[in-house]
Amino acid sequence: MKKRNTVLLLGIISIIILTSVQIFIIRGIWKQKNEMFALKYTMRSQEALYFINRRISSDGFDTVRYVLSRYSEQSSREINEIRDTSLLALKKKEILEYFTVALNKEQDLSVLLASYFERRGWEKKFVYSIVIDDLDIISDDTVSIIHRQDSPGRLRGDLRTRGSLREYSGSQILVNWFEMEDNNYRLRFEYFIDFSDKQNLILKESAVTLAMSIFSIIVVITIFIITYRNLMEEKRLSNLKTDFINNMTHELKTPLSTITVAGRTLEMSQIRTSEDKVIETARMIGKQSIHLNQLINMILEISMWERTQFELDKKNVDIEELLNDVVDSFKAGGGNGAMINKRYNLNGLKAELDVVYFTTMINNLLSNAVKYSDKDPVIDIEGFHSEDSICIKVSDNGIGISNTDQKHIFDKFYRAPTGNIHKFKGLGLGLYYVRKIAEAHGGEVRVNSRPGSGSTFTINIPY
Ligand code: ADP
Repeated sequence: MKKRNTVLLLGIISIIILTSVQIFIIRGIWKQKNEMFALKYTMRSQEALYFINRRISSDGFDTVRYVLSRYSEQSSREINEIRDTSLLALKKKEILEYFTVALNKEQDLSVLLASYFERRGWEKKFVYSIVIDDLDIISDDTVSIIHRQDSPGRLRGDLRTRGSLREYSGSQILVNWFEMEDNNYRLRFEYFIDFSDKQNLILKESAVTLAMSIFSIIVVITIFIITYRNLMEEKRLSNLKTDFINNMTHELKTPLSTITVAGRTLEMSQIRTSEDKVIETARMIGKQSIHLNQLINMILEISMWERTQFELDKKNVDIEELLNDVVDSFKAGGGNGAMINKRYNLNGLKAELDVVYFTTMINNLLSNAVKYSDKDPVIDIEGFHSEDSICIKVSDNGIGISNTDQKHIFDKFYRAPTGNIHKFKGLGLGLYYVRKIAEAHGGEVRVNSRPGSGSTFTINIPY
């Protein structure tokens, strides 16, 4: 149990480690793809800007320039006349708002960029944003409307001067920074684009890597589950074998020690004088030898039963007669005073059966019905037939079998846990033989039982 838990724990830990490593790798790849995407579109937008500049000699802000120049001329005059500081602040706010709206409304760059991207077959669905870094209105004095120290473009000024435009803050890509100036204003702003479908595009690109990672995790988990189940099955079988060896030793020792004691008894002179006692002891030796012989045969036969196909010596027999013989000899051979009710509806039906094996099969069921009983055993044996098969049911009023045990009782060496404490003797072979014999006849055996409410074994054999 401890070993089993350790194996399970180790397996789960390895799977968690593996999954974490995979997630780590995937995150790395994702980040890299993001950066690649940003870099790719930075370069593409540079290419587009260059093209637009050359082709139409415009930077996409011609209308903006015209609008702002007219507006700034008027506002420079107005601002000159304002003395009150709070009014000045309001005016500055109004100017900034106007510049922002004008820049956004009158620019043509986004349309030009999108159409260039489209022509090249690249992604063209993006949103743009414009950030004003510096704005001065020039009148008698220069009035600073906004001056941003922390603008991303300013922070990356070194990159800009070299013409390598990059901006990875969030998902925005810096396309360029622009400067405009005339007699009445000085403006510097940055133009960003942001792809709304970016995550989907990256997902598409990484689909193969992602699928492979998920697939490899699934493969590893499946292999682990299969290995673990095999290991547990091996463990179960090895436990069964150990139990079997213990049970067998116990079973063989009992008749052997009885025979040894009986032998010693016969050596005693006072016993030899009584003929009755000698006969009784000799009988006991005989009985135990038969039992011992049966046990040894049972063990020796295991390999024979393991063969999928074994030879049946089939004869055409009257089933009812055969069942009666089996029940009679079971009673005579120490049926332990069990009450056996017979109910047959076989109408003298005859079938091809191996008499010896068939007898062993019914006998095993009857002796289990007696063995696994905690009160006076009452056994019902029923026999009937359908159009093409014979059905034999053996029911008892014994201790019953739990659902879990029912799944295994027909397995070789399996004994229900209560059976292992030697209260009920056995080798875990009886029902295995029952199943083998039923199958060898082309049939099957089923069990129906509830703990405390007895059991019913049903054998179906086609004829
Ligand atoms: P054995 O009797 O030698 O243990 P079997 O193969 O005949 O081996 O039975 C396997 C197990 O099935 C038994 O250990 C017992 O727990 C359970 N069993 C079989 N027949 C009955 C029955 N009639 N009532 C209750 N339990 C049964």
